[in-house]
Amino acid sequence: MDTKVIRKNPLNQIDEVLFHLEKKDKRMIVAMAPSVRVSLGEGFGCKIGENTEGKIITAFRELGFDDVFDVDFGADLTVVEEANEFVNRYLSGERLPMFTSCCPAWVKFVETMYPNFINNISTCKSPQQMLAGIVKTFYAEKLGVSPSSLYFVTVMPCIAKKQERLRRGMDAGKCGPDTDAVLTVKEMIEVIKSKNIDFNNLEDGEFDKILGLSSGSGVIFGTTGGVMEASLRTLMDRLQRKDIKEVEYLIVRGLGGIKEGVIKVGQDREIKVAVVSGLNNAKVLLDEIKSGEKYFDFVEVMACPGGCSNGTGMPLYKKSQAESTKIAEMRAKGLYKTDKKKKARKSHKNPAIKKLYKEYLGEIGGERTREILHTKYKRVIIK
Ligand code: SF4
Repeated sequence: MDTKVIRKNPLNQIDEVLFHLEKKDKRMIVAMAPSVRVSLGEGFGCKIGENTEGKIITAFRELGFDDVFDVDFGADLTVVEEANEFVNRYLSGERLPMFTSCCPAWVKFVETMYPNFINNISTCKSPQQMLAGIVKTFYAEKLGVSPSSLYFVTVMPCIAKKQERLRRGMDAGKCGPDTDAVLTVKEMIEVIKSKNIDFNNLEDGEFDKILGLSSGSGVIFGTTGGVMEASLRTLMDRLQRKDIKEVEYLIVRGLGGIKEGVIKVGQDREIKVAVVSGLNNAKVLLDEIKSGEKYFDFVEVMACPGGCSNGTGMPLYKKSQAESTKIAEMRAKGLYKTDKKKKARKSHKNPAIKKLYKEYLGEIGGERTREILHTKYKRVIIK
């Protein structure tokens, strides 16, 4: 592959990434989305849903990346901020239902098709963009370098994430988009193969702990219902002012297109939740909310049926709904298995997250987090 010339193409940045890796003109940083660890190995003959995180980390280091962080860490940050935002809205009764905001295809759908619901979307950036903002502010400051000397690459399940990095306001480092390049899982497999890396025989590597340590909640973001379950683990502790032992909310699990449930909060309160995957299903639910037929406090929406583990940038992506759902289910199992093994299963219990708030971000939902971790939406008019 010729890497002498950078081919600036926001939809295919393989050459651009290889150019910087070879030229060594920037500090190269990479991070993978939750669903990537249970899918990238499929490109090398590993079982569907097998967690090959350790080998992926080593492959990244062999490619020449200086730091290997984890988008799961960004997911933990999203949970902490989003749970706080939900609790404030729930207690005040304002802007309910609150919609999750981590799927850019869903956000664009609301901005374009249902602009009256824009204020219902959480203002939290997605895990990709929260981590990117922290890399270009906190991490640049920690290294004592200009944010423009860092080149941050993410490996993601879909092309919607390529568009997301270019959205307005995704530039906390004030030097252009915080995420410099997005490669899909399929593209990263191509890159690893092009460098003749013997993936199956790699030793397991480890993330760089500063922005690489995650809880089980960060991991389950990769499947439908995962964002809701992760948020419930944190917001229920906050609402009930205790460390609730039961962390698994089975009511929001499974690949059903629309799941609805009621979560009891103590004796006299409840939270009405819905989890939706697939934009056709989202349309059905939005119309029911709009007409007053249904009421919810908190709604998770993912554009892909089954969530990110069924993204179009994944290997073995199938056009048949039944086949792709089966594959997404196997990947989801891999994520839940990983969640169970984690020391911390709640995002707010992740020691690296606590340290970041203590040393840099300050208060949850405070001024600095609003600057780096939150965003705004706007009505999109199609001409
Ligand atoms: Fe991308 Fe699909 Fe995940 Fe949305 S649900 S972020 S479109 S993979």
